[in-house]
Amino acid sequence: MSRPQQVSIREVGPRDGFQNEPDLIPTDDKVRLIEALAAAGYTRMEVASFVRPDVIPQLADGVEVLRRIQVPDTIRLSVLIPNERGLGNALAEREHFHDIGLVVSASETHNRLNINRSVEESMQASARLIPRALAEGLHCEAIIATAFGCPYEGEVKADTVLGLAQRFVEMGATEIGFGDTTGMANPWQVEDFFARAFERLPGVELTAHFHNTRGQGLANALAALNQGCASFESSFGELGGCPVPPGSTGNIATEDLLSMFSEMGVETGVDLPAVIDAARLAQHLLGRKLGSHTLVAGPVDWHRG
Ligand code: ZN
Repeated sequence: MSRPQQVSIREVGPRDGFQNEPDLIPTDDKVRLIEALAAAGYTRMEVASFVRPDVIPQLADGVEVLRRIQVPDTIRLSVLIPNERGLGNALAEREHFHDIGLVVSASETHNRLNINRSVEESMQASARLIPRALAEGLHCEAIIATAFGCPYEGEVKADTVLGLAQRFVEMGATEIGFGDTTGMANPWQVEDFFARAFERLPGVELTAHFHNTRGQGLANALAALNQGCASFESSFGELGGCPVPPGSTGNIATEDLLSMFSEMGVETGVDLPAVIDAARLAQHLLGRKLGSHTLVAGPVDWHRG
């Protein structure tokens, strides 16, 4: 397996991150932050969710955010779709985004707590949703949450996860995201997992979505990269987490991921100083220190001595 020299990073802070903020972020601030991020050269960003506003009030202004943000044409915007009603609402804003994300948890308990459905019900809803989205020319990412372990059920078998992934591909999903939603993965597990995933799903874009809940996010990203994974999701400032269980904080920080890739000579196309600027702005607007290391230390500078 040759290591990728170039990877794609989807910034998920404006969705995964903002959704987990205890206080509502004003729409103006969201627009400023998304535009600051877009200036960093991302080609993919998740910016909104079409979940019910009473379920996730933090993202209730998604439509307004989508309509207001001014970002370069080179960036593909994605929105999270929880169900068929969400897709209907999103399609009314079709001109404002390019891609959709769907989520199902590999573990029954987490799926029930997160979206109040059985895994099978979620899969059947996806089978109706995906063709509708494809007919609209949308790219569909199916995200399998708790792919590396469930806080309620413990081990999640790779076979179970890859079985769901296979079904999503048959439904027409063009990208499968594997989420370590509560930060339970370890690097060797990730290596074995991606080796099997690439074997079983040839030609499908496989995306790694790690959380840094226990500080293993970067090690897991490296393990995935070493198996040929070239698509990652991360959140500036290490914002993010998971609504269930409480305390599942922290997506892998985009700045830290970018710093690692840049030092390894892996091309991302994203400008690290610009992401640091956006994370600083987030610290200022949210009024607290954020968790990324590179935000504190700055990029590696060999000339400074
Ligand atoms: Zn996440």
